[in-house]
Amino acid sequence: MITGRVKKVDFSFIIDKLNSRLASWKNKLLSKPGRVTLAKSVMNSIPTYYMQISWLPSSICSQIDMMTRKFIWKGNSNKGIHLVGWNVVTQSKEDGGLGVRLAREANTAMLGKLVWDLQQQSDKPWVHMLQDKYLDSSHFLTSKRKFGSPIWNSISKAKLALLDGFHYRIGDGNSSFWYSPWISRDPLCKSLDYVAIQDSQLRLKDIFFNDSWHLNQLYTPLTTDMKNLISHYHLILNIGVLDCFTWNGSLDGVYTASSGYSWLLKKKQHNPNNKSWKWIWNLRAPEKIKFLIWCICHNSIPTLDMLHHRHLAQDNICSRCLANVETTLHCLRDCPDAARIWDAIGFRNGDFYSQMNLDLWLNSNVKGSGAHLFVAGLWWNWRARNIVCVELMAIYHGLRIARDLGFSSILCYSDSQTVLDLILKGHSIYHCYAAVITNIQDMLKFNWNVTLSHSLREGNFSADFLAKLGSANDTKIKIWESPPEALKSILLSDALRVLHPRA
Ligand SMILES: [Zn+2]
Repeated sequence: MITGRVKKVDFSFIIDKLNSRLASWKNKLLSKPGRVTLAKSVMNSIPTYYMQISWLPSSICSQIDMMTRKFIWKGNSNKGIHLVGWNVVTQSKEDGGLGVRLAREANTAMLGKLVWDLQQQSDKPWVHMLQDKYLDSSHFLTSKRKFGSPIWNSISKAKLALLDGFHYRIGDGNSSFWYSPWISRDPLCKSLDYVAIQDSQLRLKDIFFNDSWHLNQLYTPLTTDMKNLISHYHLILNIGVLDCFTWNGSLDGVYTASSGYSWLLKKKQHNPNNKSWKWIWNLRAPEKIKFLIWCICHNSIPTLDMLHHRHLAQDNICSRCLANVETTLHCLRDCPDAARIWDAIGFRNGDFYSQMNLDLWLNSNVKGSGAHLFVAGLWWNWRARNIVCVELMAIYHGLRIARDLGFSSILCYSDSQTVLDLILKGHSIYHCYAAVITNIQDMLKFNWNVTLSHSLREGNFSADFLAKLGSANDTKIKIWESPPEALKSILLSDALRVLHPRA
């Protein structure tokens, strides 16, 4: 625990810890949804202990958020763009986000537990200690005392942020009429010059009984406004229920860190939309597909149209058909290449292509019996659109390296039938990758023995490993003189012919 003034440097070790946890080499192999899961688990575990007892400096909170954001979209490289805004990502999944936690709000919500304990005067030694030192007999929530020890200061800051979420609930009416915060945060006595000595001990139930107020029995003069205000406040008393603060953010009135967090998030949400997002996360599909759909729904998949708009691509014309702007709908449905995939899995109905609103198109297709096939179609279309270029370049460079090193017999496997067809069965001269395809075809004519065959990605663990390593790397091409350490065991099991059943 920290004593004395809290400084940024006191907490910089949290940043170091997070950095080292996120920088582990294994994380280089994660996909975006994998990184979301990891970032959430790391951010939810490492700073938690300190967040429960200290109000972290704002700069530390912003740094934690920044690291999370960068890690999700870029991993450990500098490659990759932020597809969806941070204010969306940090919404709950039900509200269209990914449920990534905001550091400041998480910190406040956790300290809220201490606010609650202190307010409820729970029977914990630290509560007694702070109570004796700073509060005498007043309510913590309404006490104005701001400065004290670091822990007191931390709890006080969290209190200010959460204050509106607490409500003073009247039960038995035993609260002081003058000195308790029953009508507003400030007790009645604050708006008066004095309280008559004969009145000072009065409780609510002494003035409100038989279902009405008896203000005329008071010795203390009240203004007309005040009398009006009070008489509009109708109480329902019950001797079995205590007067106390309750928490508005939960159904049972009890404060919990998670209800505190949701409450803070709702308060922050400046643009609430009532669109339901649960369906995405309820889909019976792999996480990577749900993530893709989530990106599609936020119109945030990196199509050329979107990249062009953000000045990240020179052109917005689809590189496959060269005929249309590559919007999300074009990329996933209307491009002839995409239409071929939909046709192959049975989506041939004209209605399927008539809807030009992306949201409505998704909505009408993710319901009903064809939903799973539709979701799979989205995935395969997105994959097919990205895979051709990467795969062709890999084959081209691979063959060149093999040629330079003097190999004379080569077995080359690809998991993309489309790519193999392009090379082996020919292609239009207008194809956007015609140059590289022709280069490969020319190389095949050399005086050496090259066999191109199809293999399933999950049947080739070494290739899968290298592909993931490559996708997390900045450099266009990386040549390994000898296998990376982590690949050796995979190669060994390949050499031993260990069988991998298809998942
Ligand atoms: Zn196209």
